[in-house]
Amino acid sequence: MTREETIQATVDYFGSGKFRDTLARRVAFRTESQNPDAGPILMSYLTDEMIPVLQAMSFECLVVENPISKSSPFLLARRIEPLAELTLLTYGHGDVVQGYDEQWRDGLFPWEIVQNGNVWYGRGTADNKGQHTINLAALEQVLKARRGQLGYNVKIILEMGEEVGSPGLNEICEQYRDWLSADLFIASDGPRVSASQPTLFLGSRGVFNFDLKLNLRDGAHHSGNWGGLLSNPGIRLAHAIACLVDDHGRILIPGLRPPVLSDNLRRVLSDIELGSGPMDPAIDSRWGEPGLTAAEKLYGWNTLDILAFVTGNPDKPAHAIPPQAKAHCHMRYVVGSDVGNFTQHIRRHLDANGFEDVEIMNDVNCYKATRLDLCDPWVEWGVMSMTHSVGTKVAILPNFGGGLPNACFSETLGLPTLWVPHSYPACSQHAPNEHILADTTLEALKIMTGLFWDLTEQGADIVRMRLPMQAARLGE
Ligand SMILES: [Zn+2]
Repeated sequence: MTREETIQATVDYFGSGKFRDTLARRVAFRTESQNPDAGPILMSYLTDEMIPVLQAMSFECLVVENPISKSSPFLLARRIEPLAELTLLTYGHGDVVQGYDEQWRDGLFPWEIVQNGNVWYGRGTADNKGQHTINLAALEQVLKARRGQLGYNVKIILEMGEEVGSPGLNEICEQYRDWLSADLFIASDGPRVSASQPTLFLGSRGVFNFDLKLNLRDGAHHSGNWGGLLSNPGIRLAHAIACLVDDHGRILIPGLRPPVLSDNLRRVLSDIELGSGPMDPAIDSRWGEPGLTAAEKLYGWNTLDILAFVTGNPDKPAHAIPPQAKAHCHMRYVVGSDVGNFTQHIRRHLDANGFEDVEIMNDVNCYKATRLDLCDPWVEWGVMSMTHSVGTKVAILPNFGGGLPNACFSETLGLPTLWVPHSYPACSQHAPNEHILADTTLEALKIMTGLFWDLTEQGADIVRMRLPMQAARLGE
């Protein structure tokens, strides 16, 4: 079969309804990893659903206990060909966030696919069951077309704890480094830039969380007797926050800002348009770092946000000076930021502004920022292949705006990482009414079929082309 015929076979497979049936079966597993009782169902998704499918594609499968969170196991799978010239690693997560069953629109139910025109509703359709189902279906079609001879090995890591922060993923990558060793990583999660624009992203922004707390005294005191005499922690904490970030969201601490954007980065971001979807909120153009485009703010810069801020009891306000105030703060940051010293930078800045009494607590780097070099030959290869399959311009993002456990793959396993997302920004991921779009899904199936096909023909050349780069990196 030719490339075109194989892509057509994937289109026919989608048209036959088999793709939808497979995804519906997977959506029906209530794999809510945030639910402490979900352990058996998380395991069942691997043993009853994924292993039979993978074994039928000649994968060797290994279920591995999670060293950190017992209820979220891993599935490692590999398909080795004796004459393979390279190895591909892919990833997915079979867990989902909670169903919030009663909050879905009438007629919708999180554990069933309900189709409404171009929209397929169901928990996990976008994040991530739909995405890994697309990738495995495309791989299956290429395997069939090539009569089981890809010319490359495929390895898979499927986790069941992504929605609780991927506990144990990095430890498993370390422990099974040889088992998982590969030349290239391709996986799918998160949204495209827009529903109609195929997207390739090369890493992810990092996530750094911290709390600010001001505890001034034990208990509240009547405001008629003590107001004006006792300092108010809510007011002081509001001012402390205001010294970190201005009233237009601009970060005021130099140590929390990223390096200046390179020309190359600006170039790839220059044609990324954001916020044009029908359900997208209106972008506040005056918010954030002045002088940057929306795409530069989202993919090339850092943000500091307040996620929650409380003093007193907002549900039952009393005429009293509250004793304490607390804010949950959150940063998204890009590669090159001084994340190892973020806490110190914040501490020094608070002290210098007279807020020595504001405590920084629970500071944690949840996700490391990662980014494959835009000049890596795999980037050009991926863009060419995707464009060839669908004929549309591909949006390249240096990194995804959100967090992903990509450092496990890019750093721990040392792989060049290509992410090809299949959902879109208004997919209601993590919310009621999560959905995918049928036309985008079909396009994604074509893209993945093309990538898996082209890897046979061109993969070994790219691996050879990168050898000097790798040698230089090792020598550094
Ligand atoms: Zn998610």
